Amino acid sequence: MINFLRVIKLSLVNKWKITALLVNSLIIGLLWGCSISAVYPFVEVVFSGNTIETWLVSEIEKTDEKIAELQITCSDLKLKVGDSGNSTQLRNELDTHSRRLIAEEKANQLYRTVMPWIEGRVPQTPFGTLVFVMSTLIMITIIKGVCLVLNSVLVAQIAQRTALVMRRQFYSSAVKMDQLTIDQKGTSAMQTMLIYNLNLVTAGLISLYGKGTREPLKMLVCLVLAACISWKLLLLTMVVAPIAGFVINRISQHMRTAAQRELGGIAGVLQSTMESLSALRTVRIFNRERTEKARFNRFSKTLYNLGVKQAFFDSLLRPTTELAGMVCVAIALLAGGYLVLNDTTHLLGVRMSDRPMTVSSVFLFFAMLAGISEPARKMSEIYNTLVRADVSSKGLYDFFEVEPEIQTPKNPSQLPLHSKGIRFKSVNFAYNLKQITLKRLDLIIPFGQTVALIGPNGSGKSTLINLLARFYDPQWGAVLIDGVDIKNVNPRHVRKQMAMVTQDPVLFKGTVLENIQYGNMNATSDDILRAAEMARVTDFLDVLPKGFDTMVGDRGNTLSGGQRQRIALARAIVADPRILFLDEATSQVDVASEQLIHDSLKQFLKQRTTIIISHRPATLEIADRVIVLEQGQIEEDLSSTEYFERYGIKLDRKRVA
Ligand code: ADP
Repeated sequence: MINFLRVIKLSLVNKWKITALLVNSLIIGLLWGCSISAVYPFVEVVFSGNTIETWLVSEIEKTDEKIAELQITCSDLKLKVGDSGNSTQLRNELDTHSRRLIAEEKANQLYRTVMPWIEGRVPQTPFGTLVFVMSTLIMITIIKGVCLVLNSVLVAQIAQRTALVMRRQFYSSAVKMDQLTIDQKGTSAMQTMLIYNLNLVTAGLISLYGKGTREPLKMLVCLVLAACISWKLLLLTMVVAPIAGFVINRISQHMRTAAQRELGGIAGVLQSTMESLSALRTVRIFNRERTEKARFNRFSKTLYNLGVKQAFFDSLLRPTTELAGMVCVAIALLAGGYLVLNDTTHLLGVRMSDRPMTVSSVFLFFAMLAGISEPARKMSEIYNTLVRADVSSKGLYDFFEVEPEIQTPKNPSQLPLHSKGIRFKSVNFAYNLKQITLKRLDLIIPFGQTVALIGPNGSGKSTLINLLARFYDPQWGAVLIDGVDIKNVNPRHVRKQMAMVTQDPVLFKGTVLENIQYGNMNATSDDILRAAEMARVTDFLDVLPKGFDTMVGDRGNTLSGGQRQRIALARAIVADPRILFLDEATSQVDVASEQLIHDSLKQFLKQRTTIIISHRPATLEIADRVIVLEQGQIEEDLSSTEYFERYGIKLDRKRVA
C-alpha cells in the first residue's frame, strides 16, 4: 500500500475537512452504538412489563438485597479465613464475593444516581416506554442520516480535490516529459493511464475516507460497549480474528496480482479503441472493420477473464469475513449461555465478570457483536478498492517520476536573439540502439539563410529539426545557435525563438482567430490580420460561416488540409520567430495559392533563418541553399540555382499567373 499511502499523504492538506470528517464519523459511530443498545431496554424493561422507572426501583431493591446478603457472606468468609490459617480455596471464595460486593455496590450507586433524573420524566406505562424507545430510535436514525449526507459531501471534497492535484501533476509531468519517452509510451496509453488510474485512485480515496473511517469507528464504539459488558468474553470471542486476518491477507495478495493484470488489459482495450476510432476513415477505406473488431474482441476477452478472476477473489472475501463473524458469535453464545444458565461469573476457572451476566446483557453483547460484524464486512469490501487504488497509484507515480532526458542545466547559458548562425558540430544521434539516424553531421547555416532539406524518407530531415528545437539531445557532438551549445540552455528559451509548421498541423478546438493567436498571445488584431494575409488565410475566410470567428472543430477537422496548413503558417508568422521550420508546410496548399504565399513570405524570411523540408520544386524556389540528406549524412550542399541547374528543374512562374 506504499503507493496509495503517498496519495493519502497528498490528501492530508485538507486537514480541516478531515478533522470534520473524523468528528462526523465518530458521531455516526456513537449513534450506531446507541441504536444497537436499544435492544437492552427492549428485553430488560419493556418485554418484562416494566417502565424505566419501575425497572430502576426494582434494580435498586435487588442490588440492596444482594449487597446485604454479600456483606454477611463476606464477614463469614473473613472469619473462616482467619480460623483456617491460609486456605487458598476460602481466600479465593472471599475474593470472588468481595469483588461481587463491590460490583453490586457500584451498580446500586449508579441506579441511585440516575433515579432523580428519570423520576417523573419518562413514560409511566410499558407501552409508553415502548413508544419512547421507538421515537428515540427514529430520532437517532434521522440525525444519523443528516450526518451521513454531510459525511459523503466531505469525502467527495477531499477525494476530488486530491484527484485535481494529481491530474495537474500528471499534466505538468506529461508536458515536461522528453519526446523520446513520449514516443515510447504512446499518447493514447498516457491518456488511458490518466483517466483509468485516476478514477481508481479517486474511488480508493472515497472508500478510505468514507467507509474506511465510518466503519472502523462504528466497530470501535461497539467494541468499547461490548468490552464494558465483559471484556474477557470479548477477548475470547476475538480469538478467531488473527486467523481471519491471515486468510484475508492471502486472498488480497492474489487480488493485487489480478488487479495489476487487469489494469494492463484495460489500458490495451482503451488504447485499441482510441486508435481505431481516431483513424476510422483509414479503417473503413481498407475494409478493416472486422480486423479491428477482432483485435478489440481479443483484448476484451482477456479483460473478461481477468475480471472474472478478480470477482472470484472478491467473492472469497465476503464468506471469509462472514464465517469469522459467525465463529465469534458462536463462541460468545456458548460462553455467554454457559454463564447465564449456570448463574456464574467463571468460565473454565477464569473469571469472566464480577457480576453474573443477565439474559439482557448477553443479548446486548450479541447485538454489539452484530454491530461489529456489519462494519467488518463493509471493511472487507473496501480492501479490494484500496488494492486497486494502490496499483493505480503506482502507475501514476511511476509516470510522475520519470526524469525527463531534456533538462535545464543548473547554470543555464543565455541565448541571445539569434543573429549569427546555426551549427551542427559532428552530431551523432540515434532514437534507439539498433540504428544511427544522424552520423557525424556537420552543417553551418548563417543567420537569414533559407535552407531546403531534401532526401529520401527516413534520411533524417525531421530529426535534424527536432534536434535544433531540443526535442531530443544528440548523443555525440553539439548543436549551437550563435555559438551557444543549446544543451546548456533552458529548452523553453531555445524554442522561444522558433516556430514550426508541419505537413499535418494540429489546430486546437477554437476559432480561426484563436488558432492564429496561439502563436503569440500578445499579438494585436493588426498583427493577426497581417499574418493571415501573408499565409493567404484571408482568401478563404469568406467561405467560412463566421470568418475569423468560425470554430475549427476538433484538431481542425472541419477544414481542408490546405486551409489547416495556411492557418498554421499564419500562427507561425504571428510568433515572429528568428528560426522558422517549414516541414512540407504547404504540401496540401494548391499550386496557385502556394505561389502567392511564397511571394509574400520572401520578404518575411529575410530577417530569420529558415529550414524547409520539401520535395516540391516550387517550394525549393524560395530557398537560398539546398542540402540533400542520405542515411543521416549530407550528400550534397548546393545553392538553389546550382541545384536547379544540375537537375534541370525549370520553374514555370507563368502557370501561377
Ligand atoms: P525524414 O524526415 O527524413 O523522413 P526522420 O528524421 O523522420 O526522416 O526519421 C529518420 C529515421 O529515424 C527513420 O528511420 C525513422 O524510422 C526513425 N525515427 C524517426 N522518429 C523516430 C522515433 N520517434 N522513434 C524511433 N525512430 C524514429
